[in-house]
Amino acid sequence: MSSQPVTVQTTTDAPASAALLARAGAVIPGGVNSPVRAFRAVGGTPRFMASGSGAWLTDADGKRYVDLICSWGPMILGHAHPDVLAAVNNAAAQGFSFGTPSENEVLLAEAIVARVEPVEQVRLVSSGTEATMSAIRLARGFTGRDVVVKFAGCYHGHVDALLASAGSGVATFALPDSAGVPRSSAGETIVLPYNDLPALEAAFAERGHEIAAVITEAAAGNMGVVPPAPGFTEGLLRLTKEHGALLVSDEVMTGFRCSASGFYGLEGPYAAGAPDLFTFGKVMGGGFPAAAFGGRADVMALLAPQGPVYQAGTLSGNPVASAAGLATLEGCTPAVYERLDTVSRAIADAASAELAAASVPHTIQWAGSMFSVFFRDGAVANYDDAKDQDTAAFRRFFHSMLSQGVHLPPSAFESWFVSAAHDDEAVNHVMGALPAAARAAATPD
Ligand SMILES: *Cc1c(COP(=O)(O)O)cnc(C)c1O
Repeated sequence: MSSQPVTVQTTTDAPASAALLARAGAVIPGGVNSPVRAFRAVGGTPRFMASGSGAWLTDADGKRYVDLICSWGPMILGHAHPDVLAAVNNAAAQGFSFGTPSENEVLLAEAIVARVEPVEQVRLVSSGTEATMSAIRLARGFTGRDVVVKFAGCYHGHVDALLASAGSGVATFALPDSAGVPRSSAGETIVLPYNDLPALEAAFAERGHEIAAVITEAAAGNMGVVPPAPGFTEGLLRLTKEHGALLVSDEVMTGFRCSASGFYGLEGPYAAGAPDLFTFGKVMGGGFPAAAFGGRADVMALLAPQGPVYQAGTLSGNPVASAAGLATLEGCTPAVYERLDTVSRAIADAASAELAAASVPHTIQWAGSMFSVFFRDGAVANYDDAKDQDTAAFRRFFHSMLSQGVHLPPSAFESWFVSAAHDDEAVNHVMGALPAAARAAATPD
């Protein structure tokens, strides 16, 4: 890693954001507190947002955008939804954090357990990373084994053992993807290609007695949207049960978004049983730092203070965050999911039609109302497929949409997210921007 100062790009069309980025770059590495926000994949100046309301964001220059990131999922009801805002205000007025148990965390835990049938108990944490980290520790504690299997292209937060995604050979022990991850930590991780059961079978045949858990995204959303192939999840369940390993279904992104019970609600229940542990985040925090892991009661019973697996958090179950999450989950009515489906379908169909009209190769893939536009021909089954796309075309498409007031995720390897607040005005605004963006995608610069 070089210690050179960050060169900050500036553009004239977003002067206030450019000025904030320059200041940020002096005190925050790269000017951002999470790397994807830095626009490295698309170039240009990230927009610093000043406010959000419903489907719209307003940046520091006062320019408005239809938001197709929705904070990477949490803002399922739209920004500053009145019911969530009221719940947050009420909770905050009672105090911000007690360092003792409080009622809101019980209500949120009950809401999660009520929605996802195999989840008998949950522990609340503050981020998806903490949820997966704790689930892995618990799985290791339960099985007395150390090795974890993950799939290339699946993101489970920045847990040391789960950052590895390089190397897709059968049972190849992975090298870390990030500096600072000990070889020993990445060395406890086996990375396999997604949607490849024979590879998992081979890994279990070779090291089954060492494997504590297989962790998978219930439907992959962090290499773009790549749903599990038919039978893949059943195969994961069958193999983990055969070999005494746990299956951790990471629903941090899909949970409460793909359906009221997440991707599990679309694909489950399964003939081969249920995932042993689930992880949640994003939607269940309603835009606040709240996440959870949960599952089988006999596994969860190993957590401190009941059991020997230590896990803790000063702000875990924070009463304000819990209130925001609860109000969000309660606001996710069947009508909300219907609206998400309608809006996402309308936007994806229009994007596909305009890209086709401009002769831009593309493939759209779905998990519930989550979808991605891959700039390539042909289905994407795994990370290698996902990487085989025209990211330059995406970059041109992205910047055209941005300049027309539509904020897409700034990477070709992401899902697009909509909210129930995306009304016809917002959808029409997106539709109006698509033809020029498709032409830009078709025109190499
Ligand atoms: C976002 C995400 C995480 C990490 O959550 P953070 O709150 O960013 O730590 C983990 N797993 C999946 C599937 C995610 O999409």
